[in-house]
Amino acid sequence: MSGLQHIGVVSLFADEVERIGQYGVIGRAISNGAVTLDCRNPRDYAEDQHRTVDDRPFGGGPGMVMQYAPWVAAIRDAKAQHGEALCVAMSPQGRRFDQAAAQRMSALPAIVFVAGRYEGFDERIIEAEIDEEWSLGDFVLSGGELAAMSMIDSVVRLKPGVLGHDQSAALDSFADGLLEHPHYTRPAEIEGRQVPAVLQSGDHGAITRWRRREALGRTWLRRPDLLAAATLSEQDLVLLEEFKAAH
Ligand code: SAM
Repeated sequence: MSGLQHIGVVSLFADEVERIGQYGVIGRAISNGAVTLDCRNPRDYAEDQHRTVDDRPFGGGPGMVMQYAPWVAAIRDAKAQHGEALCVAMSPQGRRFDQAAAQRMSALPAIVFVAGRYEGFDERIIEAEIDEEWSLGDFVLSGGELAAMSMIDSVVRLKPGVLGHDQSAALDSFADGLLEHPHYTRPAEIEGRQVPAVLQSGDHGAITRWRRREALGRTWLRRPDLLAAATLSEQDLVLLEEFKAAH
């Protein structure tokens, strides 16, 4: 399989992050050898008796700052396992993660995700070892583990061959710049709510048109920013007008 081969994680909760490899799509990708996951804890690289990984901030103020020596030792070890790895730090100050970033990362051979805690990293860790900083969104988490796990999930499922044909990521939201159309399954009617008749018609052309119209309409309603950036065909513009007229 092409694309991402190795994922390293550096975190004070390495065991928690490792669990992402024990279930679901990512678990399957790891167990069938499509990708390896290797998590390490900076505490194992601390040289004092208390396995210290943080200290008070210079200049005063609340909280603790992650210390250079144990974190850099763990990051360098993670990188050494993975050859030419891109090293990314989880940070609310980083670029906001999106599907385009996931696509790009899924084509790289190896990535090391570094998840912080406390007040954040001693800035010199970033300067010395980090290639890029990425944020899950404009909010502050207590730690970077959930951000790293979210990014790993979204990156691995894009690796060719990880999702089965019937789960193709190419049909998901954002893949073509739009939100995906709504889904329905049996029963066809429940508590007075009907599945749209077209989906039961067997007319595949009509179903494709309906799905495209709903995808365009949803994106128009919920994410006009995405719609403004999308490349739309003449047919798309007609379908969008139909959706607006019916709305
Ligand atoms: N004091 C930092 C600031 O204001 O920028 C926030 C530190 S936060 C409490 C601790 C760690 O959680 C960070 O080092 C980072 O790894 C992670 N983190 C917090 N929010 C995040 C976000 N939105 N995206 C990615 N990682 C985040």
